[in-house]
Amino acid sequence: MKTIIFFLVLVMTTQLADSQFSKILFESYDSYKFNDISSRRFKHGELMNHLETLKKSLGDLIKVEQIGSSAENRSINLLTLGTGKMKIFLWSQMHGDEPTATMGLLDLLNYISKNRNSAEVKKILSETTLLIIPMLNPDGAERFQRRTSQGIDMNRDAMRLQTPEARILKATRDRFNPEIGFNLHDQDPRYSVGDKGTVAVISLLAPAYNVEKTDNAVRTRAKKVASELTLVLQQFVSNHIGKYDDTFEPRAFGDNIQKWGTSVVLIESGGWNNDGEKMFIRKLNCVGLLSVFHSIATTSYEKTSIDVYENIPMNTKNLFDIIIEKATISFSDGRSSIIADIAINKEETHDSTGIVWKGRVVDLGDLSVFSANEKWNGAGRSIDASLIEMNDIVNIHELKNIFSK
Ligand SMILES: [Zn+2]
Repeated sequence: MKTIIFFLVLVMTTQLADSQFSKILFESYDSYKFNDISSRRFKHGELMNHLETLKKSLGDLIKVEQIGSSAENRSINLLTLGTGKMKIFLWSQMHGDEPTATMGLLDLLNYISKNRNSAEVKKILSETTLLIIPMLNPDGAERFQRRTSQGIDMNRDAMRLQTPEARILKATRDRFNPEIGFNLHDQDPRYSVGDKGTVAVISLLAPAYNVEKTDNAVRTRAKKVASELTLVLQQFVSNHIGKYDDTFEPRAFGDNIQKWGTSVVLIESGGWNNDGEKMFIRKLNCVGLLSVFHSIATTSYEKTSIDVYENIPMNTKNLFDIIIEKATISFSDGRSSIIADIAINKEETHDSTGIVWKGRVVDLGDLSVFSANEKWNGAGRSIDASLIEMNDIVNIHELKNIFSK
């Protein structure tokens, strides 16, 4: 009997190694993914319904508190989980059209609900306190736009604090003075990683707190957390992690929160081929954050070298969605035909049937220095110049029939 009890205690308290834990999170994602949400264009009302569902399943593991309202009077809420002394603060969607991390946060809450008795969740909830604001800019989310309903980019309002949304973020940080923070955004899906030509699926930044971009204890801790997150994500998407430009922006929240004493990591959800709805990137947010919470809870991240972060290649903007290489462009008026590469980006529009993806011609000529998510071979195939003029909207499916076979 004693042996059984001893064994049980051992099972309950032994923590998985960091890499094992993140692999399990990645592989078992479908078992805890928050399935009520399956598209990016959800609004505040839907988020509130989802929080209600999660509140029921999490029970006394979660506290939901309204901490203020947007300019148009939508509630902004703080979710608190855990009782540990290490406070981790996360805020998502201060830009209304950047919802990927909000979805990842719902997955993460569902994971905690379903795995509350696992050694890893118990460790996270006993050693850390998670302070989560999902959807800081609900008015922007309503319109699927970056700015608040007052027309302000709240990430340039950290000093003047003119918007209610910015005041809520500042007040919450000051109320808890958390040790670690995650600033959750989406970036243009066409950034690539350094000169590798691979798309940046996630970009990270430990923001500077001064123009000189020096390190202090607060920023160094942010770099260690970012390094740990990089090691986690590289297991699944190696060569697809980029580093965001760390030029000091005196009006931005990340830079100021670093200055105010919370170690901040910016996570930018970027692009992934054939993942326009960013469902794979949502998964990476969830797996990455849970893994890092665990390494903060066990303090293992403290041993991670900041060099991992420092060595991430910079985000570079040299990527198109599609390049048709060396197509023959013919002119019906007698001008001689030419050989050119054609760059096409997919654009998201929506009509009554939902989201519609259109192609737009964004460059023509020698594009051999650029990368693309898809390259189609145009050699030996001809297209009339009138069909692919600069800035034209094109039918991607028709082009694919001509060029990708
Ligand atoms: Zn943003």
